[in-house]
Amino acid sequence: GRRGGGEEEYLFKVVIIGDSAVGKSNLLSRYARNEFNMHSKATIGVEFQTQSMEIDGKEVKAQIWDTAGQERFRAVTSAYYRGAVGALVVYDISRRTTFDSITRWLDELNTHCDTTVARMLVGNKCDLENIRAVSVEEGKILAEAEGLFFMETSALDSTNVKKAFEIIIQEIYNNVS
Ligand code: GDP
Ligand code: MG
Repeated sequence: GRRGGGEEEYLFKVVIIGDSAVGKSNLLSRYARNEFNMHSKATIGVEFQTQSMEIDGKEVKAQIWDTAGQERFRAVTSAYYRGAVGALVVYDISRRTTFDSITRWLDELNTHCDTTVARMLVGNKCDLENIRAVSVEEGKILAEAEGLFFMETSALDSTNVKKAFEIIIQEIYNNVS
């Protein structure tokens, strides 16, 4: 929207979804605070963090929402999705079942948000190469079939975390500007 002085400001809601323990909370803490927690517990209460970046000389704010651990009960509420314009759909490259769940998460996303939501498939924990259970190729193929961006990340060693968020935020910006 516009504010006084003709300067534009942008605030985008981005949700992070995916099975329990794939690293959603750590992706957010790595991006927003450059923090990682080896023993992180499920968040209590819905939480979001706001991060700013500059695009075309404009301040773009992303309000990034993390599930409150509700994903364990397969009951992420519609309030969580309301108003979202971007989504990171996350699996753990070392746990096959979390990749198999992606279709279900995409279905859920589609029931709550319209198809214009910018979406990225994220294969997290790429530092766990020695126990990899999903190949890069499989991730790419699924992403291509579903029309998603794709990236492998590691919240542990920071690989591609900033990049993943920035690509999705840039894409949202492209969609609205
Ligand atoms: P969430 O349930 O999806 O929010 O997952 P968490 O962020 O709570 O992470 C679950 C567990 O995986 C924690 O023990 C984290 O320390 C660990 N974890 C998260 N991201 C990574 C990563 O990129 N690499 C590795 N090796 N472990 C990770
Ligand atoms: Mg969490």
